[in-house]
Amino acid sequence: MKRIAVLTSGGDSPGMNPAIRSITRTGLHKGLEIIGIRNGYQGLLDNEFITLDTHLVSGRIRDAGTFLQTSRCPDFVKEEGVRRALDILADHRIDGLVVIGGDGSLRGARDLHRCGLPVIGLPGTIDNDIYGTDMGIGVDTALNTIIDLVDMIRATAASHRRCFVVEVMGRGSGYLALMTTISTGSQVAVIPEFRMNMESIVRVLGHRFSAHYNNSVIIVAEGVCQGAEFMERLIATSKVKQEVRLTVLGHIQRGGTPTHYDRLLASRMGEMAVLALISGESGSMVSTINGKTQLCDFNDILERRKALPSDAIRLARNIGIEIGDVVES
Ligand code: ATP
Repeated sequence: MKRIAVLTSGGDSPGMNPAIRSITRTGLHKGLEIIGIRNGYQGLLDNEFITLDTHLVSGRIRDAGTFLQTSRCPDFVKEEGVRRALDILADHRIDGLVVIGGDGSLRGARDLHRCGLPVIGLPGTIDNDIYGTDMGIGVDTALNTIIDLVDMIRATAASHRRCFVVEVMGRGSGYLALMTTISTGSQVAVIPEFRMNMESIVRVLGHRFSAHYNNSVIIVAEGVCQGAEFMERLIATSKVKQEVRLTVLGHIQRGGTPTHYDRLLASRMGEMAVLALISGESGSMVSTINGKTQLCDFNDILERRKALPSDAIRLARNIGIEIGDVVES
């Protein structure tokens, strides 16, 4: 193992930069050459390779996003794309690759591994929807960004006796919505894992309004529906006695300065990825389970759906948050 490449793929997440920095610094410390591939799998197919050094990663531990840039690349999903990528990597004499991204990106990483290239993945996604790791890189920062914003919304909601609907990210997972409903003291989480119960939601709002807690916040995961659609349905019940307003947090959720947790997680995972490649590992994702950084086989995680933590569901119910009804499977 002499030359290792790294790329970021899919949606950016705060912590990707600290991960690239850690990979670069660890690799150089171990006497390797480290190559950055710009713009994800698209940049790989477009031959966008740069040599990384300590100067290029200097200061990156503080920056959200990914300075290597990222993309979604439909061409790479095709067999021909993977074959072309392998040829290009061979041309650049790449002995091993680290892919930082969400589950789609890790599927791409597994394709390259199956063709014989040593590949290690890092879970870089704010959704926290990757099975096999307690946390993804960027999740903690996104949670902290959301709670800062919802705290601000709460101030205006309280001043005007309003109910705010806040749409947060999470296409297939209600993790961000559930956790921030708990940590902001909000009243309702609308999440894909449970069936929303509009009657119960209206009851919660009505009870609060008549008990003079005259403001409420409902957090809606984008994977259920758009916040605007939810608000329309809520108002259509004609049972809400207060003004309802909508805030869509959008891409701001990705842009927070990486928290201590994410900087450390990304640094640890980046280090382990390089050490794993050096020791001949391939086809695994670096994960964190109960605070321990470890490797798990792509095949054990990529076909499985990550469940919400059961203790968080219990906590939400026990402190009176409306999260909907269990969906029969
Ligand atoms: P996020 O969590 O932000 O959505 P992601 O990595 O899941 O991140 P995707 O858009 O699903 O984002 O995937 C990123 C890229 O990974 C795709 O554009 C494609 O190039 C590659 N990819 C996705 N799915 C596959 C697959 N099944 N096989 C091979 N490559 C894939």
